[in-house]
Amino acid sequence: MNRLFRKTASTVTLVVLAALTLTGCGDTQKTAPTAISVPVETYNLRLAHTWPTKFPIFGDAIHNMAEMANKMSNGRINITIDSKNKHKAPLGIFDMVKSGQYDMGHSGSYYWKGKVPNTLYFTSMPFGMTAMEQYAWFYHGGGFDLTQKVYAPHNMVSFPGGNTGNQMGGWFQKEINSIEDLQGLKMRIPGFAGEVLAKVGAKPTNIPAGELYTALERGTIDALEWVGPSLDLRMGFHKIAPYYYTGWHEPGSELQFMFNKEKWGSLPVDIQEILRVAMRVAAYDMYAHSYHESAENWASMKSEYPNIQVKSFPTEVLQAMKSANDELIAERAAADPLAKEIIESQTAYLKKARAWTRISDQSYYEAMEQLN
Ligand code: CA
Repeated sequence: MNRLFRKTASTVTLVVLAALTLTGCGDTQKTAPTAISVPVETYNLRLAHTWPTKFPIFGDAIHNMAEMANKMSNGRINITIDSKNKHKAPLGIFDMVKSGQYDMGHSGSYYWKGKVPNTLYFTSMPFGMTAMEQYAWFYHGGGFDLTQKVYAPHNMVSFPGGNTGNQMGGWFQKEINSIEDLQGLKMRIPGFAGEVLAKVGAKPTNIPAGELYTALERGTIDALEWVGPSLDLRMGFHKIAPYYYTGWHEPGSELQFMFNKEKWGSLPVDIQEILRVAMRVAAYDMYAHSYHESAENWASMKSEYPNIQVKSFPTEVLQAMKSANDELIAERAAADPLAKEIIESQTAYLKKARAWTRISDQSYYEAMEQLN
């Protein structure tokens, strides 16, 4: 048996009601408790994640999931969590879970686009769905099944792993007033947004979280995006870059829990269901946690850091990025039938969900803004 996935047989004493039948002479049946021992299997799973040890919000979601799974299973599920400080491969989670080196992982699906291009679509797409629109797509609009279509050939099952909410456009050393200002700009920005920026003349790169501050401070990069006020302020970016832009590129980034498919398939149905519920609740809770931290930090940001200049990209720049985005999407759809299926599903769902968002949330915000 794989040492990383030990099913440990132990015994537990259960008090059961064994019928002690007294027969004859019209006596009624009586019962009395008796104790017997039955084996109980425990499931020791190992999880590797992309983030540093004790990383807030993302790390909290992982620990919440593990704790819920442990409690809901009455101690039968034990998940050992290794951060990137332990396994030293923050962007190696895909391979480690695929191979079975780890049973589970937590990361971001768009980090794997260089290996498997269609993993790109399950985090967040520029100009795409917000967190709630995307959750609706994942759980009720076909998104979950499409995710498995991409991950199954790589021996994995992928589950939503927590949403950051709408992300900020990033920290810049200089103001962006036109598309010319993006030419040659070295920016840390992963996912499809990186490809969009490359198409409009910038030089995108991906750098793990732990190296971002140093890269921006030393001028290895001119700009970076990370998440938003929930996490950016603790990273200290405001101390080394004056401009903070609003978002366009990650309107609702969903992280992922990954599971080695063979390991997942070997688990009994009740253990699977406990893990499925724990992952789902932890994911939703991370969205609420992110929202809370962003609201708190946004409220204090202006007073504590008055030098931060909050900007939005000019319409000309946004339009150029949207046009580049649409061209790149069309190229991907034309080149790969599965990419086409995912893109068409997302595009159709966004159209439908956004019509509802506009008449519900947006109308509400607009109505409230008219009031004192
Ligand atoms: Ca980001």
